[in-house]
Amino acid sequence: METLHLGLDDTDSPYGGCTTHAAWRILRELDCDPPEPPSLVRLNPTVPWKTRGNGALALRLRVEDAEGAFEETVSVIEGLRRPGSDTGIVGCREDPRDEEWAEGLYRKGVTSVLERKDVAPLIGNTSMVESFGGGRGLLGASAALAWSPGDSTYELLAYRDGAREVDDASIRDAAAVKGVWDTLDPDGSPVCVPSTPCPVLLGLRGDSEEAVLEAWSRVKTDSVEGFCVFRTNQGTDDHVVNGSMGSLKPRRSYRVTGTVSGPPRTIEGGHVFFNLEGPGGAVDCAAYEPTKGFRDVVRGLREGDRLTVYGSYRESGGGTVNLERLEVLSLNRSELVNPTCPGCGRSMESAGRNQGYRCRRCGTRADSKTELKVKRELEEGFHEVPPSARRHLSKPLRRF
Ligand SMILES: [Zn+2]
Repeated sequence: METLHLGLDDTDSPYGGCTTHAAWRILRELDCDPPEPPSLVRLNPTVPWKTRGNGALALRLRVEDAEGAFEETVSVIEGLRRPGSDTGIVGCREDPRDEEWAEGLYRKGVTSVLERKDVAPLIGNTSMVESFGGGRGLLGASAALAWSPGDSTYELLAYRDGAREVDDASIRDAAAVKGVWDTLDPDGSPVCVPSTPCPVLLGLRGDSEEAVLEAWSRVKTDSVEGFCVFRTNQGTDDHVVNGSMGSLKPRRSYRVTGTVSGPPRTIEGGHVFFNLEGPGGAVDCAAYEPTKGFRDVVRGLREGDRLTVYGSYRESGGGTVNLERLEVLSLNRSELVNPTCPGCGRSMESAGRNQGYRCRRCGTRADSKTELKVKRELEEGFHEVPPSARRHLSKPLRRF
C-alpha cells in the first residue's frame, strides 16, 4: 500500500456543484481507507474570483497504486465538475506538510493571493497534476495540501437527495449539542441549511468529530445522499493579519487598533459606518445590513472609543474595513461641556479663543470645560456579527 496525498480545488461554479461533494464521492468510490479525515481548507475569502467560500480540499488515501487512484480521481471529477470551473487536481506520494515551504504556501493562500510560482515546488515535483479551465484550481489544491491542522475545527456536510427537507425542531436539537456552533442565528433561524443550488443539505460545525456526529444523529430528514466529516481551518481567524492604519492593502483581512473619530452614521440600505483613526491614518469601518443586530453595537460607538477591529479591507470609498468582529478596548465615558456658573446656574460661554469661559450675566470666569460622566450602553470586550453573516474562516467568540 502507498499513501496518496490528493489536493482538489474548484469543481464548482456560482451555479451549483460543490468541491466537498466531489471529495466525498472520491472517498466513496475509491477503495482507499483514509488514514485521517479529509481537510476542507478555506482560502483568502476576499479574492474576487472565488465561488462560495473559496474552499479547497486535501484527501489522504491508502491505496494499492497511487497513479491508478489519481487517474480514477480525475475521471470522477470529470463527471462531476461544472463547466466554467477552473478545476485543479494534484497528487503526490510524499506528504507536502513535511516540506519547509508548506507553512508559507498555506499562509499565503489564506491571507493573500497565490501565484503560479508559489506552487512550483509542489506541482513541479509530481507527475500527478491535472487541470481544467484556466487551472487556477491548482493553486488552491496545492495550498490545501500544505495545510497542517494545528488550530482546527470540524464540519459535517450532508448531501441531499432531491429537495432540502429538514425538520426545523430537529435542527434546534442538533444545535443544543455541546461543542457545536453557528447552527442557528440569534433569532433562532437555522443558518446551517444553505439556499444555494449546491448539493449540500446542511453543514454542522463544531469543536470535534464526536460533537458534529452527535448533532447529526439528532437531525430528522428524508433527503440524504450521504455525509462526510471534514477537518477544517474554519473558525480559526487564519485569514487575519495584523495591520496598521495607512498601510492596509486590498484583498487582505486585518486586525487594526484605533480610536473612533466621529459619530457612526447609517446610510440608505441600513449599512452603518464609522471612522477609525490611528497612527498613520484613518479608515472607514462598515457593518452592512446583513450583520443585523451587530449594527446596534456599531451605532452605540462614540468618538474617543478605543477599538480593535477585524475584517477585510477594500480600497473603495477611500478605504473601508468590512467588519467581522470588534473588541472595545476602552469606552469614552466623558463628555466636555461648557462650565456652569456657580452663582447663576447658567451655562457659561466662550470668552474668546484661549480666553476660557465667562458668565454673560455676572461675569464669573472659568478656565476650562467641565467633564461630565456619560452612561454607556455598550460593553467593553468582543462583539461579533451573527453566524449568518460570518465568514467561514472568522473565529466565533465562543472559540476565543
Ligand atoms: Zn453668573
